[in-house]
Amino acid sequence: MGFAKQQMIEYQDKGYHALQNMFVCDKCIDEPSVQSFIRKNATHMFCSYCGKSYKRKKCVNINTLANYLSQCIRTEFGDPDDEGVPYLSKEGGYMTKTYDTYDIFEKNYLEFKNDEIKRDIVEEVFDNRLWCRIDPFGVPQNKELYYSWESFSEIVKYKTRYVFYKLPPQNKSVFSPKSYVFKILDDISKIISEFNLYKVLPIGTEIYRGRFENKKIKADYIELGPPSLEHATKSNRMSPAGIPLFYGSFFSETIEHELIYFDAKMKNKRKFLTVGKFVTLRELTVIDFSNIPSIPGLFDLSRSHQSDSLLFLKEFVQDVSKPISNNGSEPIEYVPTQILTEYFRHVMKIKGINRIDGFIYPCSKSHKLNSCTLFLQSENCTQDDITSFQTNDSNTKNLKALCLITKSVSSKRIPSNWVHDKEVFYL
Ligand SMILES: [Zn+2]
Repeated sequence: MGFAKQQMIEYQDKGYHALQNMFVCDKCIDEPSVQSFIRKNATHMFCSYCGKSYKRKKCVNINTLANYLSQCIRTEFGDPDDEGVPYLSKEGGYMTKTYDTYDIFEKNYLEFKNDEIKRDIVEEVFDNRLWCRIDPFGVPQNKELYYSWESFSEIVKYKTRYVFYKLPPQNKSVFSPKSYVFKILDDISKIISEFNLYKVLPIGTEIYRGRFENKKIKADYIELGPPSLEHATKSNRMSPAGIPLFYGSFFSETIEHELIYFDAKMKNKRKFLTVGKFVTLRELTVIDFSNIPSIPGLFDLSRSHQSDSLLFLKEFVQDVSKPISNNGSEPIEYVPTQILTEYFRHVMKIKGINRIDGFIYPCSKSHKLNSCTLFLQSENCTQDDITSFQTNDSNTKNLKALCLITKSVSSKRIPSNWVHDKEVFYL
């Protein structure tokens, strides 16, 4: 145990004696996780700070609360001395950013309805001590994961696209230990499993798909579904040329916006937008990136171990779904997500799940506008034949999974004076 930690215990002992008869209720603190802790551990009926008497036990001793807050803070912060931070008087103190406990409470939205509580905890129990980030000169785990994804992306874009899994372990940065380039794919897979980011799309789920062309297209699944193998000549965000996938959305307007926006970006000026509704003929198990759990606050001790994975996941999903600039480099920019998609489709193994059928990615504006990529090709589609729903246990390659409802297909002419402003379109 470090000297500073030992000293902290002594201060806490001192504070303990001074505050052993002080109790606080959950109404005196404005932070849901801390309120929940107080309710679960209440031993007294009288709050020393607001003066309220309750009929049931609703208050905890202030030392018990301070001990809980200390455990929470110590998940991310430590004592600068214990963390090996040099102290240079000439330079004005510790050689890293430090925080007092008031700073930490404020930055993490822990509010007290009574200043006396805060003062008792900060000054009596914590003795106005300073904190710094744990391992302040290292790279936080969430950043380490993100740098791994960036490093992987750079290598498959500019170094090797087809044999990256044979590369020897290498450093991602000067601070990181050597690791295999592809390890980030396994890490992402583990995080997906850890948070159960799966969803079963039930039979009958409606998914829209569209095409924007210079002429009207036929209202059939051959035209409106994924292209056949010989026609899959374009590279897309999740699929290289030759390996078509089904790109869809749960809302027809998303399709319109995405296609028109993409067309405007590519300066193609196509004229006819055709959108149709497919329904699923079997259950489809998809990875759901649109429903990532919230990042736990500092004072939610029960979920603090999830913070790094969730911080990474949010940044990663933003990165893979961001618009790609129109400078002619799209096919290269798509390579990392194309490899990731193949990993989900062919490599990733999940306990209790036979196969992954695709994934959902979020629209920042509304869950309703989420899009999906399904590992389905033209041969998995049919039309107007929803009577023979498929069983889930068949391994037939040609298993029909999507049925186009041809009467839902509509085609409209998009005037050439449509202009776009990011995702908003005006006539
Ligand atoms: Zn109170």
